Amino acid sequence: MMTNADPQELAKFSDLAHKWWDPESEFRPLHEINPLRLDWIDHLAAIRGKNVVDVGCGGGILAESMARKGANVLGIDLADKPLKVAQLHAMEAGVANIDYRSIAAEALAAEQPGQFDVVTCMEMLEHVPDPSSVVRACFEMARPGGWVFFSTINRNPKAFLFAIVGAEYVLKLLPRGTHEFARFIRPAELARWIRDAGLDVVQFKGMAYNPLTRRYWLSGDTSVNYLVACRKPLAA
Ligand code: SAH
Repeated sequence: MMTNADPQELAKFSDLAHKWWDPESEFRPLHEINPLRLDWIDHLAAIRGKNVVDVGCGGGILAESMARKGANVLGIDLADKPLKVAQLHAMEAGVANIDYRSIAAEALAAEQPGQFDVVTCMEMLEHVPDPSSVVRACFEMARPGGWVFFSTINRNPKAFLFAIVGAEYVLKLLPRGTHEFARFIRPAELARWIRDAGLDVVQFKGMAYNPLTRRYWLSGDTSVNYLVACRKPLAA
């Protein structure tokens, strides 16, 4: 079976892995949005004591924060250096209820179908050759009644201006080449993959950013960065 991954995309994240936990590094945006998405996920899915899988976990910013909230977390990714950084960070921080594995979403779905109360897959789909296959795998990993969360970037002229020109060239929040416009995903496209997989959409949220105050907040405006919460039907 061909792995649904782009080696060049994985290399980008491996090359920077040593900086993952530096809040002033290329990963600053992930650090800054983390409290926001963590609270949103926890508010909807009440993660304490739940089994959570974080797909495309990278260096573990979200995964470790969910473990600190009392979830039992498995972080998976296909870039090895970020996974090692994640593992070391959890060990040094003394966070015990977390594990990391190098395995594709589709492979874990085949191995442990229906085993997770909560599946998170943030800022990852826009780096994958076939994102709909990852959405399906997330559905398969969730237990009936379980929650699945995605976040990604919209594809339109404003998203090009803000997420690529603004973030990579003007504000230099991200390294040039982090994102490829053609891989961005419209909410309607993601919603179709979600429904085709068998998940129910619960809510779409936009994520807004003010570069002057460095504040992020959730809004109704999904035109650039956005998140979606879904549930697997109880009967599935
Ligand atoms: N989800 C984390 C990291 C986002 S960065 C967070 O939001 O904090 C994107 C991550 O997706 C990187 O760690 C990269 O290695 C991973 N990734 C890219 N393609 C992947 C694939 N096909 N399978 C698994 N992980 C992938």
